[in-house]
Amino acid sequence: MSFTGSMQQWPLRVTTILDHAANLFPRQEVVSRRVEGDIHRLDYATLRERVRRCANVLDKLGVAPGDRVGTLAWNTHRHLEVWYACAGLGATYHTVNPRLFEEQIQWIVADAEDSILLVDLTFVALAERIVAACSSVKRVVILTDRAHMPTTSLPDALCYEDLVADASPDFCFREFDEETALGLCYTSGTTGRPKGVLYSHRSTVLHAMGVNMADAFGLSSRMGVMPVVPMYHANAWALPFAAPMVGAKLVLPGAKLDGASLCELAESEGVTLAAGVPTVWVGFVDHVRERQVKLQALKRVVVGGSACSEALFDALERDCGVEVLHAWGMTELSPVASYATVRAGMESAPVEALHRLRLKQGAPVYSVEMRIVDAQGVPMPHDGVNAGALQVRGPSVLREYYKGAGGQVLDGDGFFDTGDIATIDEHGFMHITDRAKDMIKSGGEWISSIELENAALGHPAVVEAAAIAVPHEKWGERPLLLAVRRPDMQVEEGEVIAWLGGKLARWAVPEQVLFVDALPHTATGKLDKASLRKSYGTPASTQA
Ligand code: AMP
Repeated sequence: MSFTGSMQQWPLRVTTILDHAANLFPRQEVVSRRVEGDIHRLDYATLRERVRRCANVLDKLGVAPGDRVGTLAWNTHRHLEVWYACAGLGATYHTVNPRLFEEQIQWIVADAEDSILLVDLTFVALAERIVAACSSVKRVVILTDRAHMPTTSLPDALCYEDLVADASPDFCFREFDEETALGLCYTSGTTGRPKGVLYSHRSTVLHAMGVNMADAFGLSSRMGVMPVVPMYHANAWALPFAAPMVGAKLVLPGAKLDGASLCELAESEGVTLAAGVPTVWVGFVDHVRERQVKLQALKRVVVGGSACSEALFDALERDCGVEVLHAWGMTELSPVASYATVRAGMESAPVEALHRLRLKQGAPVYSVEMRIVDAQGVPMPHDGVNAGALQVRGPSVLREYYKGAGGQVLDGDGFFDTGDIATIDEHGFMHITDRAKDMIKSGGEWISSIELENAALGHPAVVEAAAIAVPHEKWGERPLLLAVRRPDMQVEEGEVIAWLGGKLARWAVPEQVLFVDALPHTATGKLDKASLRKSYGTPASTQA
């Protein structure tokens, strides 16, 4: 007797997403602010036609199933076409983060063995500097039209629009196993070499379905969706798959990520949901406040990638009139894993308690399992108080890094250790207290650098803050706060210390606040604490 179910095997390939969008929502738009400066629009039916042309182009250029196709590109329709064309060929797109150091980019392209590189105009000079050292790269395609083709030292550089125009619009998306590799993205690698995460078609489709659930991003065909987070930062949080899956309008902001440009594009294109890292929203809020913009279209803003401070959360909700959705994830998880959407049982919570819950990183939806463990790997209670190492597992969580880098990364139960420290409460709401390596241990007590930074950001004259550990003879470590002053305001060290005294436990208040002009960031926009520790992580008396 057979125990096999008798339903169809329908491989979860991402080209089925594009087909669905083109068949059901042929006239729904994909709008891009191109790097040439114009606003470009096409619909899902035309997108599919261009994807087929692009697949023919890549095929002719020799891209075989399994080959890696590198991109150095912003969020625009051309980048999207390359992704789906790779998907249709059974090849793997590899989004290279152009903000990394050049040696890192060279190393990543070599490690991935990219056979072709497609680059936006903005990155032609970068490509010129790195390509000679990337022996796997056979051709470079510039993502522009003939009129904008630059003079370049790149050997035999090709013009994307010429190639697409000359290619046939007939291409039958190939059929292969749903576990086939789809996309490759390297982690930012602040310590050691970056490591590649290789998404499959199946993991990506399942993740996009999770992202679309009502208690997640909750997209629909009636929405305009703008991924501000770059496509080279963990798949732009899956929005290039989730939006077409439900037929939502997709608005791609290109290279202009300043507050004014984002605000103008969102409002003129009817964007209802936009997603990005906190830094982007700080610029957006400044613009809305300065110009006293009354937002009409934008309803919801997803903040993730770094903790959303209470100050930013309140500014977005109070001054911009949008709903904030705080989300958490990692490149290794496809990437979004938890969402702070209000769940059943929370509606009746007092306003302040609900506010505290929505400031957390939230709970997973179906397909992500989450737990916290102690130093011995023993699961800890979900009491919202005790913090432990955060672990996850599920169909969109990596099994191993590309080429096995870093060795075994799952524990005996198949859980992946995120490197984050968190609490989980009775609602399943997770709250990141810190990256394990950023925690500060003072006199036996743990100090959360995130909590300290968020408290400092509550001061009206502080625009950005970073807390790091500095060795201390008596306490082991003490926190040092580095802060950037708002340009039009004055504030002194003592005032910030006094401010923090009213908000934090006594031992968590730093003795020292250093004002700096700017703080360093990693290639994905996070505070670069490794470099801050290098510059400032010595006892105060020995600092320059
Ligand atoms: P990446 O793979 O570059 O997206 O980085 C993942 C890391 O970013 C996580 O492990 C967290 O440390 C951090 N992160 C992402 N989202 C949040 C968030 N909402 N709050 C705090 N940290 C976050």
